[in-house]
Amino acid sequence: ATISPEIFQEVLSAYAWGEGTLSYNSYGEGHINNTYLVTVNGKTVTRYILQRINTDIFTDPKSLMENICGVTSYLRDLISKRGGDVSRETMSIVPTKTGSSYYTDSTGGAWRVYNFVENTICLQQCRNTEDFYTSARAFGQFQKNLADYDASSLHETIPNFHNTPDRLRKFKEALKADVLHRAADISDDIAFVLDHEADCSYMTDLLAAGKLPLRVTHNDTKLNNILLDADTNDALCIIDLDTVMPGLAANDYGDSIRFGANHSAEDEPDLSKVNFSLELFEAYTKGFLEVAGNALTPLEIETLPWGAKLMTLECGMRFLTDYLEGDHYFAIHRPGQNLDRARTQFKLVRDMEACWSEMNNIVSKYSK
Ligand code: ADP
Ligand code: MG
Ligand code: MG
Repeated sequence: ATISPEIFQEVLSAYAWGEGTLSYNSYGEGHINNTYLVTVNGKTVTRYILQRINTDIFTDPKSLMENICGVTSYLRDLISKRGGDVSRETMSIVPTKTGSSYYTDSTGGAWRVYNFVENTICLQQCRNTEDFYTSARAFGQFQKNLADYDASSLHETIPNFHNTPDRLRKFKEALKADVLHRAADISDDIAFVLDHEADCSYMTDLLAAGKLPLRVTHNDTKLNNILLDADTNDALCIIDLDTVMPGLAANDYGDSIRFGANHSAEDEPDLSKVNFSLELFEAYTKGFLEVAGNALTPLEIETLPWGAKLMTLECGMRFLTDYLEGDHYFAIHRPGQNLDRARTQFKLVRDMEACWSEMNNIVSKYSK
């Protein structure tokens, strides 16, 4: 969205920035929100992140901001009790002049301000296995830090986000409607999904039976949502908390494995190039369990491979659903792209099934 200078002035004047000259610029490489760097040039230079929340995706900014405020203030307390650097190890919301966690402008845009975490690096892609390991430690730390947070107090800002049986139900609806008559040509892919019907409810059944705890989950565990300390290259701060919701620890872990434990593009049409990497799987599992291992229950750890498999299957089902429905949800740049995306996910699921015992051995190797 392009935002007029008048709106910027309106938004900026809603905050008490302190003494100095204000300037702002577009910032970062995020694809969801509009992100700006605000600089206050006074006796010292203080910087902030100003974001216009994408309210097409996040239709309830009030609940979203309650989630973020709850989690960040909890993290602030925890980090300060530990003697950590509260200004760098977590983000903090800067309130408006009237004490609100966000500002709604006269055109309906929702804005918020965070402290800028100084002296960091934000990687867009893993350069090597080590980076993937570092990201595992970062998200492991996030999970561990929030292990005692009451996840049921969080709003489900995107309902049924990782409700795999519900995703299957939606797939079946799309299949039944088959509005574009695409089903006839993809019977193998459809059969693959339907053959996995029983798997879909494996984790949600354990949750419903009270055998797996509800956790705070991040739900966008990408590398570029981690800030690394520029001096040490260690993981420092987890950002992009819009999708923080109640969920299963194995879902965050599993989604990281889904997109990170292979060397191919998500829409690679040549499936011979799409291979699940046990080496990358091991690196992530090691990093995640080294940090979060003792904060998780034995069953949570034991079912981590299930998280990896079901997040991958679920994502494939979503791509295939969208293909059947006419590509409304995931933007496509060429015909058949969502079908290719679904097929890479199903190939990864097949690979995981083929090395299921190795995956389980790796998980038990790193669980003390
Ligand atoms: P999106 O949801 O659009 O991905 P993010 O919240 O991830 O938005 O922000 C986009 C980018 O802005 C990040 O990848 C990071 O480079 C930078 N960024 C966001 N918040 C901060 C912060 N508090 N301190 C420093 N950099 C930040
Ligand atoms: Mg981001
Ligand atoms: Mg985001």
